[in-house]
Amino acid sequence: MLVELGITLRRGGPSLWLALIALVASAGCAQGTAPSASVIRGSMPDTHSESAPDLLVVPATQVWSESGINVESGQTITFTARGEIVAGPGRSGSDVPVKIPPEGTYLWDDRAVDRMFPLPAAGSGPAPCYGLIGRIGEGEPFFIGRTRSMVAQESGALRLGVNDFDVSDNQGEFLVQIELGGAERPVLHEQVVDAHAATGTPAEDCSVVVFYVDGLRPDVVREMVGLGHLPNIRRLFLEHGSWLEHTFTGFPSDTITSNGTMWTGCFSDRHGIKGQVSFSRRRLDCDSFLDPFGPQRSAQWLSPSGADAVVRSSQAAAIGVMQGAEARDEWLQVRHSSVPPLFEILRRRGHDWAVGVLPVMTEVPPPLWSRSMARHMPYFQAQKAWEYMDDANADYAIRNLLSRRQPVTIIWLPETDTCSHKCSRGQFGMTRKTIARADELLAAVVEELRAQGRLEKTYLLLVSDHGHIGGRDTHLSNFDLASDFFFRPRVLNAQGEWSGGGLGMSVHMHRYANRHPEDGAKEFVFIDGESDGAARVYLPRRHYRSQEWMGAERPGDLLSYRVDANRDPVDLPRSIASIHAVNSDGQVDRPIDLVLLKANDTAVLVTTHDRGQAVIERQRAADGRWEYRYFTVSDVRPTESGGVTYRMDTNQQFDPLELTRSVSPSLLSEFHDERFWLELTYDCPYPDGVVTLARHMLWDEELEDCQHEHAPDLVVTARPGWFFSTSASPGTMHGYPLAESMRATWFVNGPHVRRGARITTPARLADLTPTILDMIGLWDEASQESQFDGRPVRELYRGPVEFVTATRPVYWPDVNLQAWQRLNYTPLDRSALLPRTINRPEALVDINNIAYGMVMIPDLSIFRLMDDAISPVSGGRQPMTAMADNVEAFLRKRPNPLVSQGAMVPDVPGVALADYSVTSQGNLQRMDRAIDWVQNAGSTIDQKLAAPLKRETLPLTRPLNRGVDVAQQGFWEVYRFGQRTAIKVVDELVLNGVEDGTGRMLNAMRPVPNEIQLPPE
Ligand SMILES: [Zn+2]
Repeated sequence: MLVELGITLRRGGPSLWLALIALVASAGCAQGTAPSASVIRGSMPDTHSESAPDLLVVPATQVWSESGINVESGQTITFTARGEIVAGPGRSGSDVPVKIPPEGTYLWDDRAVDRMFPLPAAGSGPAPCYGLIGRIGEGEPFFIGRTRSMVAQESGALRLGVNDFDVSDNQGEFLVQIELGGAERPVLHEQVVDAHAATGTPAEDCSVVVFYVDGLRPDVVREMVGLGHLPNIRRLFLEHGSWLEHTFTGFPSDTITSNGTMWTGCFSDRHGIKGQVSFSRRRLDCDSFLDPFGPQRSAQWLSPSGADAVVRSSQAAAIGVMQGAEARDEWLQVRHSSVPPLFEILRRRGHDWAVGVLPVMTEVPPPLWSRSMARHMPYFQAQKAWEYMDDANADYAIRNLLSRRQPVTIIWLPETDTCSHKCSRGQFGMTRKTIARADELLAAVVEELRAQGRLEKTYLLLVSDHGHIGGRDTHLSNFDLASDFFFRPRVLNAQGEWSGGGLGMSVHMHRYANRHPEDGAKEFVFIDGESDGAARVYLPRRHYRSQEWMGAERPGDLLSYRVDANRDPVDLPRSIASIHAVNSDGQVDRPIDLVLLKANDTAVLVTTHDRGQAVIERQRAADGRWEYRYFTVSDVRPTESGGVTYRMDTNQQFDPLELTRSVSPSLLSEFHDERFWLELTYDCPYPDGVVTLARHMLWDEELEDCQHEHAPDLVVTARPGWFFSTSASPGTMHGYPLAESMRATWFVNGPHVRRGARITTPARLADLTPTILDMIGLWDEASQESQFDGRPVRELYRGPVEFVTATRPVYWPDVNLQAWQRLNYTPLDRSALLPRTINRPEALVDINNIAYGMVMIPDLSIFRLMDDAISPVSGGRQPMTAMADNVEAFLRKRPNPLVSQGAMVPDVPGVALADYSVTSQGNLQRMDRAIDWVQNAGSTIDQKLAAPLKRETLPLTRPLNRGVDVAQQGFWEVYRFGQRTAIKVVDELVLNGVEDGTGRMLNAMRPVPNEIQLPPE
């Protein structure tokens, strides 16, 4: 039943309950919370209040309960609540009744997703479900939770209630103490650390565990903490750690480019990964870094190793034989970045990084990872795989990663990003459930570190790769740049002149082609930008019908680009910037923000529709580092030789990056280094924009061939409120150079790290690898071997002499993101010009998903099958899995390493169906662990034997162990390579081939021409 707001109901009376302390004792049946008067007074210092605290009973069965208190606008109200309610049956994910405290819960059951809560929650807003809420007069409801101190915005009668869509089946009550007047109470305390603070150094002999929560917004973390949630993140990172408030990723703010930056400490012009999809002008084909083998492709790009390196060098040799040494060198170079990634730096020193599934990873699939996935994922439901990734990755870390005791462990929790893209209002709606779950998973990993006795020597990092835009006060509208601008037929008027429509080009995207019948195979535009705030556009050189893709770059041609011999050339940047479209509110709007063009090897032209044009220029300073300047330009023209000229115009009132609003144009037009630009622009609409846009559009000299093959002609970004996609989404997006998308999360906890600190010095995700290397004591060495764009952040650590900085209170308005209003959503229809295709990843019938479901069968856990078999009597619990887990966890945590590692040998909880075959991966891995264990046990015994001889080991042990190690490693390399190659063939050749063929067939039945001639009037 949906109860209307504003109606006061009561179990037996018109006006509602306000009870003084004495009365509560008699109401003591409320879940054992019967207090005594002294307890309440003692726990609530009320020295500042003008009135004595009252205690109010708020029954869970009422929508609103009258408090009997009238508040005045401007008056401070402080609430303190306790008690528990049971909100209906099955409201929190299981059928076992769950007691809900006043702060409510984000772990709601899926059945609540579309329900109408008094304060928008679940799928429709940011509030927790079933918590304590309040309302003054007829004003908007507000969240209270366990404690809330606020200044009343209006006057009227105060009412309290439960944030539930149906109170009729609830039980229990909240007990609320209300104080009027006095000072507002803070939600947190923090010390603000700026660039002038003394800096310290990390502790020695430490390792690093990174919780990488994809797409997590730090402001959402702080607000959820302010609402009384994320208890583990609050304790570890907000109370006992430091927050790098102004941390920004590079442009585009997407997962793949950011991962390149995060794990190399360099910008994309040096690591070479510049987008989610890599288009080759040589092959006229693309690879996606987002498909199942993308992670390995990106790792290989950064540093080929293992069997892949062998294959690579044999491929190179083959090219050498067939096409000569020059072709071979070229082939090798275009696949190679100029900087070593973090794992390469560790491997050179005999270590490694321990990672499960990560956007950049070296072992695909990681050994036994699919076991962890199969423990959580429903059978044959690969299309839902993304909903179980966080659990699987945390499970895998606890079972398989931490025991490797590598200096760096990375645990990727991708669901926050996936859910933000797909689910209503992103992190201002459904995704908060995922974040609340991530807090629990993080705690489980930290608990394992504590049990292994390593927590004191571990740096914990909570980071994200980018933020998200949307969901806070609007839903986003999608603009189909491919169909509605590039593909849309040109419209000719009665005189045969081009008068409107689109460009009339055939369009290719990843696994997508939409073709006009008139166009030849090499006549198309390639677009990388699906569900993204930025799109990269590749065109044939010179003009659309040139048939030439690899020729010399001629940026000037794009300012006067001929799409057909019979039509006038167009200025592509200006044409794209001026696009109009109807948004989901039915308004005509402009979806395009910036159009970026590389004007020459040292300059980027930025074009907007209504803020003019500007140029970012860079040059090498005397020390070899880059410096940049920025100035607005006019009179932008192509030259005869394909170049671009412009006139510097410092008097212009508007500029594309909106920097002249806060910085003088003369300062902007002087050259400054990257650090200076970051500090100058971190608070601007395009934070770090000058550096990061240039770093994306320009390429390092060492990657020149790579640029030739992979650089786009134009990069286009969407305005706030828009994103590029063929289909609508109620979720949120990233990729933009805008602040909400560029701002990443970065919290740190560990030895010497400041506690409760907010560090205001701006940082970049390029600083992450240097900071990690600093924490494990390798920075000095590594920075001598290669030059990083980032630097270790040392403001994190307490200085040797720490002058006491007073902490500052953080009040609720400081963390309140004001997203409480309900939003309407009308998805836009798909473009009528879209091709028909059969690849629908969300559908169960998708052939990819069927295939992945089959691959997963051998890894289904035996214990889970048994649990599922008995689930009708066990009420959904998993006693078998739990029992196996507990036994293993108990053994794993024993202080004696021989016992703890021995526990991992049989891998009892991981026993899966495939293990009935002797050669299954599980059994092979188990044998492998047994060999490790014997070796370790052997060396312990060996050391004891060797001790009387004053030697570390007996003479023969070391070479013997090394031989065993090499054999083990070689075996796994070959095994994984074979497994991967098999899946690759299925995935890329068979499945995509079927889809592409079907798509082409469907399209051939409905041809759309390049041009449409309007009839004479
Ligand atoms: Zn991401």
